[in-house]
Amino acid sequence: MKKIVVLAEARDGALRNVSFEAISAGKQISDGGEIVSVLVGGSVSSLGSELIAYGADKVVTVEDEKLKKYSSDGYAQAILAVIEAEDPDGMVFGHTALGKDLSPRIAGKLGSGLISDVTSIEEDAGEAVFVRPIYSGKAFEKKVVKDGLVFVTIRPNNIAPLEKESGRSGDVISMDVEIKDLRTIIKDVVRKTTDGVDLSEAKVIVAGGRGVKSEDGFEPLKELANLLGGAVGASRGACDAEYCDYSLQIGQTGKVVTPDLYIAAGISGAIQHMAGMSNSKVIVAINKDPEANIFKVADYGIVGDLFDVIPLLIEEFKKV
Ligand code: FAD
Repeated sequence: MKKIVVLAEARDGALRNVSFEAISAGKQISDGGEIVSVLVGGSVSSLGSELIAYGADKVVTVEDEKLKKYSSDGYAQAILAVIEAEDPDGMVFGHTALGKDLSPRIAGKLGSGLISDVTSIEEDAGEAVFVRPIYSGKAFEKKVVKDGLVFVTIRPNNIAPLEKESGRSGDVISMDVEIKDLRTIIKDVVRKTTDGVDLSEAKVIVAGGRGVKSEDGFEPLKELANLLGGAVGASRGACDAEYCDYSLQIGQTGKVVTPDLYIAAGISGAIQHMAGMSNSKVIVAINKDPEANIFKVADYGIVGDLFDVIPLLIEEFKKV
């Protein structure tokens, strides 16, 4: 049995889904051991009970004015203090902007290895086997930890959270950690997301490429995304052409996403774009060119003009 510390992430007073996925991953590693969720921020203790409901056995919160806005320095100090107190056998973080920033720093401080971007966990003779994509998602490798701490980051949207059990009991403990002077003070965070839906956690993404032709050309994509409760993404071609912001870029040098549904409109399917979306569960491609590369990874292909096809999709989805 292993004790696993999992990092919970909160944003705008709500827990991010990856927090529950990390608990589920922790359970798979712990072999029946204890799951301790860590929650760091300005005022976060009220969220503890939700983590218990999703399977954490204990929640440790670290609250401080200096932790109101994320900084690697401040969060690392808080999390290292919890790790020292809990003495876990392993840690699970989300492979999010925050997790990607913090995990190598913490692994380095602890002298631990790190298996990043895990998409599933298998079991082999009682041992956890971590599956992660390599070569931009063209192959998968399997890793086991033979010695020392098991430290992994999990890709959002890949490991299903456990069923919520509202009456579950567990302790929510507040820990005092003295946050030493931070070398960087974050004054303000200017966020660029589409209508509140985080691209890396979105279940539906409607992505546009150079075929969208202008900033205004993204409007029907936004309408479709809103209708489906999803987010808008883009190819680098569309970002380079200044049709949209780089925060929407999906691909090798953008975000890696695995939504349930990915609609690619006016995107040719360059290898660098596919590195960020080819593991989506269902891919629908809309392209004028029947030879477009994107059709090779698409589950459903629509050969046609996106400005004809998307309004038709909007019309049909409105009927549902
Ligand atoms: P294009 O290749 O120009 O394709 C536009 C498509 O739209 C065409 O297939 C066309 O048939 C179709 N089309 C045009 N009009 C319509 C219409 N009205 N209706 C329907 N279809 C239409 N790219 C990324 O996306 N993400 C990355 O992270 C990334 N990283 C990169 C890193 C490096 C080091 C390099 C060298 C490149 C990278 N690229 C990345 C760029 C990548 O190689 C491609 O240039 C880019 O993905 C092309 O974008 P696109 O498909 O929108 O444009």
